[in-house]
Amino acid sequence: MKIELQNLTKKFPNRNRKNPGEVIAVNDFTFEIPDGQLIGLLGPSGCGKSTTLNLICGLEKPTAGKIFFGGRDVTALPPELRGVGMVFQNYALYPHMTVRKNILFPLENLKGKDKLPQAEMNKRAEDAARLVQIDELMDRKPGELSGGQQQRVAIARALVKLPQVLLLDEPLSNLDARLRLQTREEIRKIQRATKITTVFVTHDQEEAISISDLIVVMKDGLLQQIGKPQEVYDNPQNLFVAKFLGTPPIGIFRGEVRSGKLCIGGIPVLSVPGAADGKVLAGIRPEGFLLREDGPLCCSLAGVEVMGRESSVVASHPDCEAASFRAIVDATQLADPDAEKVRFALKPEKVYLFDPQTEAR
Ligand code: ADP
Repeated sequence: MKIELQNLTKKFPNRNRKNPGEVIAVNDFTFEIPDGQLIGLLGPSGCGKSTTLNLICGLEKPTAGKIFFGGRDVTALPPELRGVGMVFQNYALYPHMTVRKNILFPLENLKGKDKLPQAEMNKRAEDAARLVQIDELMDRKPGELSGGQQQRVAIARALVKLPQVLLLDEPLSNLDARLRLQTREEIRKIQRATKITTVFVTHDQEEAISISDLIVVMKDGLLQQIGKPQEVYDNPQNLFVAKFLGTPPIGIFRGEVRSGKLCIGGIPVLSVPGAADGKVLAGIRPEGFLLREDGPLCCSLAGVEVMGRESSVVASHPDCEAASFRAIVDATQLADPDAEKVRFALKPEKVYLFDPQTEAR
């Protein structure tokens, strides 16, 4: 089921008495979620991710704009008529019910002509449990399950009504690191197996990059960029996106373009043909630094972490925005890990130039 958001806006009254007015939680979103894909809504806390999800499922009404499912306008439809399954961060399972009862619950609540025969309900619950591999746990109560298993029950419960759209709101954030990795792979497998159009909300860029077909990067209710994870990483459209994606993070340097050369600290460090003269902020990905004895960018070496064949070099430069930045380099090229200075050449495709004036706005 393709989902389209058309100029979607949601404003809330601001509850802060000192600062009355409105909060624009979602500001004029227009984008399409292609059928059968998993899309990650990514951004810091408060950027409007949950509100977007609540608008798609119908728990919130938009202030303006429309939502289409498979070309059909669902903007005015209540949640129960939209065919969406929703999974929340805290699982929201009923503690006194068995796993089986929890999964059956949405079906048992169907009324009138939608009601299914008991045998069909049981079969659906068992199919959903098998899909998320909890069919052995059907007679346990949620308290007798691990966090990861509880989250799988919540997913089975969302799938039991055979939704056309699955919405997951920070579904992994209550799990420890190991379970988070495992469960995210399972969610990906389930999504691939069922081909349900899925919207996955997270503030964790690594999680979004690893799981999504497409990511939507958001900030302060504004859409920043949408695209395949690798495309967005390789072509960030603004400083916020450049900084938000990537581990270790991108290094940001104050510089200047003079006659087609990027200069940092007044020294030309890279040819940037076609770039306009003037002040710039240069973002350099950790893998964009090359250790070279005659490299033009001279930095202070703060430390080296060897990670197998590669090393993470921690260095500093007076024109770097942060106290230090990281370079991921070939370990064999680091002649002296105790040296005070280290020199880098730069890979042009890993360097991005941003206009400091536009970015300050
Ligand atoms: P996220 O999920 O990215 O953390 P939210 O969608 O929850 O962000 O919130 C976006 C903005 O809207 C925040 O500033 C938040 O305080 C505000 N907001 C969300 N829900 C409400 C509400 N029911 N009433 C007032 N403000 C809200």
